[in-house]
Amino acid sequence: MQTPYQVYQRLFKQYGPQHWWPADTAFEVMVGAILTQNTSWTNVEKAIVNLKKEKALNCNKIVAMQEKQLASLLKPVGYFNVKARRLKNFCHWYQNTRQPEKNDTEKLRKQLLAINGVGPETADDMLLYAFHRPVFVIDAYTHRLFTRLGLIEGEPDYEELRQWFEKKLQRVDDKVKVFNEYHGLIVQHAKQHCTARKPLCETCCLKRVCVFHCHSLG
Ligand code: SF4
Repeated sequence: MQTPYQVYQRLFKQYGPQHWWPADTAFEVMVGAILTQNTSWTNVEKAIVNLKKEKALNCNKIVAMQEKQLASLLKPVGYFNVKARRLKNFCHWYQNTRQPEKNDTEKLRKQLLAINGVGPETADDMLLYAFHRPVFVIDAYTHRLFTRLGLIEGEPDYEELRQWFEKKLQRVDDKVKVFNEYHGLIVQHAKQHCTARKPLCETCCLKRVCVFHCHSLG
């Protein structure tokens, strides 16, 4: 049985650095974290380009902008009316919170989760990729991969899974760097090999340690 860190090492050897999060500023990371809910990153990039063209990738501009106008710039990401409202909620918080980067991680996490439209995955994306805090981001890809590997069982909720990873990786040096790469590697692996249907096990770097694959061999 592999440890989560050994899985990380195998994935890193296979795919190399992932260079996440693709954004120019911490604010852009946080905007992207909201816009990427239920859509692909390609669509997020189109919406970010729209915001940049309007010189609206700016907290004060977003707060001041009419919600309808903001929604029209966010069309590529789908649910654009909902996301415009969520983005405004977030920007109100950001504008009214003095130096959030000075808060400890737990306090900051609570503040982010209190914003209407920011759930655990979005908050943790922001904590890890914008505030550089050692928080492990969980998503559906993570759950699928680690269930198939036989490292988790049942349906642990978001918080249980996050804490499980953080405990298993507690002795790792430079957690922020490793957590940053690890989440990107899981996404990459889930897209390239460990797909929902018909995973490409024969060419997978984890096949020798994967319970799903071993069972499929009979
Ligand atoms: S061997 Fe198959 S099921 Fe297991 S991790 Fe690789 S792609 Fe996923």
